[in-house]
Amino acid sequence: MAATNMILLGPPGAGKGTQAERLVADYGLIHISTGDMLRGAVAGGSELGLQAQAYMNRGELVPDELVIGIVRERLDAADIRAQGVLLDGFPRTVAQAEALSEAIIGLALSPPVVVNLTVPSAALLRRLTGRRMCRQCGSIFHIDRDEVEVGTPCPVTGCGGEIYQRGDDQPEPIGERLAVYLRQTAPLIEYYTAKGQLIDIDGDAPPPVVAERVEQALSAAGIEKCE
Ligand code: AMP
Repeated sequence: MAATNMILLGPPGAGKGTQAERLVADYGLIHISTGDMLRGAVAGGSELGLQAQAYMNRGELVPDELVIGIVRERLDAADIRAQGVLLDGFPRTVAQAEALSEAIIGLALSPPVVVNLTVPSAALLRRLTGRRMCRQCGSIFHIDRDEVEVGTPCPVTGCGGEIYQRGDDQPEPIGERLAVYLRQTAPLIEYYTAKGQLIDIDGDAPPPVVAERVEQALSAAGIEKCE
């Protein structure tokens, strides 16, 4: 049977990264986060990073052709064919969704199931301003839930990387990112609904509760966790 592929859709702060960590572990998928890839490119000072940095700092989307290029290249791999992919933060525009659809057909992968996390705007703002990350392992924390402070070591066993706050998790870029989401990404809800691929999940709950809702919805769609 062909491997299952998934897309995690939702506004910034909906919990895509947190749910992605679980889905990857539970369903054995390969995680592709375009945000992580772009932050890695910026940190590494590559040509892609240099081109992407200014857009990211402003909270705007990086041009479609740059992002589509890196995803297309990564999708054409044996691990993805065997295990399936979890796309987190991609697609974010209709042009990206169309390019993805073409790539999936071209590579003979199965059409993705789209998990759409819905969260009210006030909760998104609280989540984004309180979010902290580990520079080394990429774990996501929240100051309301975890005892983490910027500049201290990551509490994940064996990691110890530096805890930081993303530059775009500040009030100004957050406002721009939410506006960009409504303008450019929210149309994907209709796009994937029309294709019969969308599953809506109420994401306004603690991460384990949301994970349980996702698991139940996927099971109802015939997609089960790995043993
Ligand atoms: P994220 O970590 O998904 O919130 O992404 C952080 C930033 O990376 C976004 O605000 C964009 O500037 C850029 N980015 C990530 N994914 C995409 C994408 N699919 N298309 C365009 N820009 C992206």
